[in-house]
Amino acid sequence: MSSVLLASRNRKKLAELQRVVDAAGITGVEVVGLDAVPDYPEEPETGATFEDNALIKARAGAKAIGIPCLADDSGIAVDALNGMPGVLSARWSGRHGDDPANNSLLLAQLSDTPDERRGAAFVSACALVLPDGTETVVRGEWRGRVLREERGPHGFGYDPLFAPEDEIAAGRSAAELSPEEKDGLSHRGKALAQLVPALRALAG
Ligand code: IMP
Repeated sequence: MSSVLLASRNRKKLAELQRVVDAAGITGVEVVGLDAVPDYPEEPETGATFEDNALIKARAGAKAIGIPCLADDSGIAVDALNGMPGVLSARWSGRHGDDPANNSLLLAQLSDTPDERRGAAFVSACALVLPDGTETVVRGEWRGRVLREERGPHGFGYDPLFAPEDEIAAGRSAAELSPEEKDGLSHRGKALAQLVPALRALAG
């Protein structure tokens, strides 16, 4: 059994990656999180792009622990804000991970933006780095638009404000989809699906 380190403490991301591995029928690969390995210094996310930040995190994990390491970096890119918040999504309001404050600020910024210009995309870059230095980086995008108020109990971050384009007829926000429905459509699901061949190769 070979192990892949997912450089994240987020249980939902760990479970999501394990579901992708299982759904692809990959046997012999176990996904472990940062809680399962010795602590190492985590690098600040100073990259200008999602890809840069995913690579920073995956390189640090592969080097410190000596096993293949996968990391993702994600956010929302809003057309009317020229692609912002982008890599600053988690700390848009100034406080890292303050979802209610981030969502309120985004709504205020778009208060005069008409429906036809509220397009946005969730973006995820995933990097897989092997101890021998081999690097694979992929990107997944999920288009939609920013709603005028929060809707739905599920998900996290900007989910209650994001109406995926695949769902516009049904009118649901990303926070109104079940976790399984979201996996099947989301930016991270699309990115991780592209890593299946590389993960399968690890299984030997
Ligand atoms: P990180 O990649 O874990 O640093 O997260 C980046 C930030 O992007 C999160 O704090 C969320 O605000 C936002 N984000 C990334 N993916 C999603 C998603 O699937 N739904 C809602 N917000 C997301």
